[in-house]
Amino acid sequence: MYSLFGFSPENKPTLAISQCLMGDNVRFNGGHKQSRYCTDVLSEYFNFLPICPEVEIGMGVPREPIRLIGTDRGVEVVSSSDSSKVYTQSLRDLADKKIPLLSSVAGYIFMQKSPSCGVERVKVYNAKNHPQWTSAGIYSERVMARLPLLPVEEAGRLMDAPLRENFVMRVYLYAHWQKLQQASGFTAKGLLEFHQSIKLLVMAHNFEVYRALGNWLSCLKGRDLSQVAHRYFELLMHGLSKPATRKHHANVLARLQGFLGKSLSVSERVELTEVIAQYRKGIMPLVAPLLLIRHHLRLREDDKVAQYVLSQRYMNPYPLELGLRNAI
Ligand code: SF4
Repeated sequence: MYSLFGFSPENKPTLAISQCLMGDNVRFNGGHKQSRYCTDVLSEYFNFLPICPEVEIGMGVPREPIRLIGTDRGVEVVSSSDSSKVYTQSLRDLADKKIPLLSSVAGYIFMQKSPSCGVERVKVYNAKNHPQWTSAGIYSERVMARLPLLPVEEAGRLMDAPLRENFVMRVYLYAHWQKLQQASGFTAKGLLEFHQSIKLLVMAHNFEVYRALGNWLSCLKGRDLSQVAHRYFELLMHGLSKPATRKHHANVLARLQGFLGKSLSVSERVELTEVIAQYRKGIMPLVAPLLLIRHHLRLREDDKVAQYVLSQRYMNPYPLELGLRNAI
């Protein structure tokens, strides 16, 4: 039973999700596109807010399929059989209407390839009915423009282990940040403590952003803290938007080994160096060196350095039970 950043099985973060992924029969043909990973695995850790934009704008089930077309006015979404039936504005208006509700979710899982919900690579057709280029879906594009820091991912891409890990990590971070904001807004102390706890995590993703975040918080006296916090979080989410590479993880692991320093015996040091090297080569998953490091840290729990490392978000970015680091 996990308890992390104030979240637990009784108090889960909420994810918005394309409703067809939940197994609901809301597609144009009366079917669904259930994602077993969402309904059977992620549902243990997240509440879901299912939304079908096409049903919500009154298109009904079943309905005519729609598609994106390129026009002089930009990309529009129209009926596949009658391009005079245009749904672009209705879908954008719906996204605008949903923003207050979506401001309280911690992420959004969209259905891929959909002219309403796709995040990228949705076909856009030209006047000759040929797919000419690609774009985001009309509804999802608006949601992403209005909530640019909200973690979003397509269900199909969640089958990719690094993308899945990165999405869930960002979701927990976003949910935690929301919680801190709602609790009391940010104090200088609170911001610095938060930053302290995410240092290794950011380092594993993007060293430039790690430096920029430190510089941004270097002198808080006399500054508007809500603006500082907003910009800080923008930089942070930008820095974490791509999965960390094996090389960067291995560098952070070596740093963790450095924290343990001389407290390790020679044979323990050799063993850890070997496991980190095997991770670096792709022979072992990330969970292997981390478990070994955690084991050594727990044996030294009275030590201040061990306490500092154990408190790092990098050691525990989401519930261990999700097994996300077993596959990267
Ligand atoms: S992709 Fe979006 S619009 Fe299409 S059925 Fe699923 S939820 Fe509805």
